Amino acid sequence: MTYRNILEKIRLAFPQPISDTIHDSYFVHSMMRALDQVDALKTHLPFLGSIIHGDFEAAKQTKLADTMSSVEVVTKELVSYLEGVTIFGHPRTQQNVVAPTTIPSLIGVLLASLHNPNLAWDEFSRLVALAEVEVTAMTSQLIGYDPEQASGVFTFGGTGTTLYGVKMGLEKACPETMQKGTPENAVVFVSDTGHYCAANITSWLGIGTDNLITIPTTVENEIDLKLLEQELRKALTDGKKIATIIATLGTTDAFGLDNLKQIVMLRDSLVDEFELDYQPHIHADAVIGWAWSVFNDYDFEVNPLGFRPRTIRALAGACRRIRHLSLADSVGIDFHKTGFAPYISSLVLVKDQVDLDLLKRSPEQMPYLYHFGQYRPGMFTLETSRAGTGPLAALANLKLFGEEGLRAILGHIVEMTQLLREHLEGHEGTTVLNRGNFGTVTLFRAYPVGVDTFEIKRQEFEDATYRDSLIAHNTYNQEIFQYVNAEAMEGRGVFISTTDCYRKTTYGEPIVALKSFILSPFVDEEDVKTVVAKVLEAREVIG
Ligand SMILES: *Cc1c(COP(=O)(O)O)cnc(C)c1O
Repeated sequence: MTYRNILEKIRLAFPQPISDTIHDSYFVHSMMRALDQVDALKTHLPFLGSIIHGDFEAAKQTKLADTMSSVEVVTKELVSYLEGVTIFGHPRTQQNVVAPTTIPSLIGVLLASLHNPNLAWDEFSRLVALAEVEVTAMTSQLIGYDPEQASGVFTFGGTGTTLYGVKMGLEKACPETMQKGTPENAVVFVSDTGHYCAANITSWLGIGTDNLITIPTTVENEIDLKLLEQELRKALTDGKKIATIIATLGTTDAFGLDNLKQIVMLRDSLVDEFELDYQPHIHADAVIGWAWSVFNDYDFEVNPLGFRPRTIRALAGACRRIRHLSLADSVGIDFHKTGFAPYISSLVLVKDQVDLDLLKRSPEQMPYLYHFGQYRPGMFTLETSRAGTGPLAALANLKLFGEEGLRAILGHIVEMTQLLREHLEGHEGTTVLNRGNFGTVTLFRAYPVGVDTFEIKRQEFEDATYRDSLIAHNTYNQEIFQYVNAEAMEGRGVFISTTDCYRKTTYGEPIVALKSFILSPFVDEEDVKTVVAKVLEAREVIG
């Protein structure tokens, strides 16, 4: 076969550059066939097909084929890789902070991949670049930034958003690190329930994890302000430069919300007191919590959407912190978490666009790019090529939901969470550990028949003479977890999750908890009741 014969086949595997209605429908049909094959993997269980454990040793032996394949064969093969993947929208899974994705956001990803715009420069992305600017404007307004003054770019994940925050802060605290390298006296602050990406970022930026100062949290999982003040003062007295204070608004597991307003006030007063010639940068890691901003101007008294009183309380409780997001110098937002878009769709917002200019490279370093055009984020982004998928997926969902839709979907998952807690609290065998928390994660424990669950929680938490009891009940809850998920595997019940250390007791022992993370609009009252029923059933079986 000459290469020309092969080229024929190759051309068939591309969408046609010039309209060809027959081939265009072949393309659409190929997509539909792929989707059909995926749909065929759906059963009543919350994962596709069956769970097959991958042979990673065999995978290492994979070789490139000698000859070409076809669209049909490759499609079929690709679909097989989805076997066993969790259907995150399924009402019978309450496992993790992975969002189900909407149809418009999927179309956004497809469109942005189809013609491959590159957001480095509007010359390469045309109006897709505009989508990035529009999402930035909408989100700025939502959290309370002035869209005229603010700016933002999509980046490679929530981790990337915090990286930008710390990088800008480092440049402010220690000017010209871009050229001279990172000095040894730069420090970064984060709470101990903040995301571990802070450790990654400080190490990758050359600040070093030894210079990441981790501040303990209160029982509400909020940064302890007294200890933060103490450590900030110590750092300044020791001649350190505060590169960034990371405030977490919505910790991953417990939805702890740092008191951003107080942190900003603290920063401002220390700038005066220590006569700093820079303002320590405050980055809000709100990759989870940002979405709650839609409730900033919700009338909780009139409650036009008809949420239950407990839901109202939880939403208002989260809002009292989230409404101050605009006080942060930069904010991280994940549309792929509480925005129901596919990975990766992460936006870092910067209150004052001049901060982003700090990251600009000189044009001489990029001789073949950016000679004209109006929009050239590639002059300061870490990435060179940037996909249009994130912005188009985010834009799709913001347009789809509007404020009303986001309120309804978040309100619903909070409502289901509150309902779960209500049901768990309605039984003597179960107790909620994070009852005052405003998010959609519920951490709870079950106890054997005969244990006084009204007393035991406090006793095990603060009284070291209960150590054996705590440890025994840790094992007990792991058994409950095994039972509940084994049942779910058989189509009876709901998949939940567990954590080996919800918190440590006052005497240093980890507390194991059962965990429900609700993020699907399909979860409803009966699924929540099923969780409780299954835990109680496990209790009967285990004893
Ligand atoms: C998920 C998460 C991150 C990391 O975001 P990725 O998008 O996974 O990179 C950072 N901070 C918090 C609070 C998170 O929950």
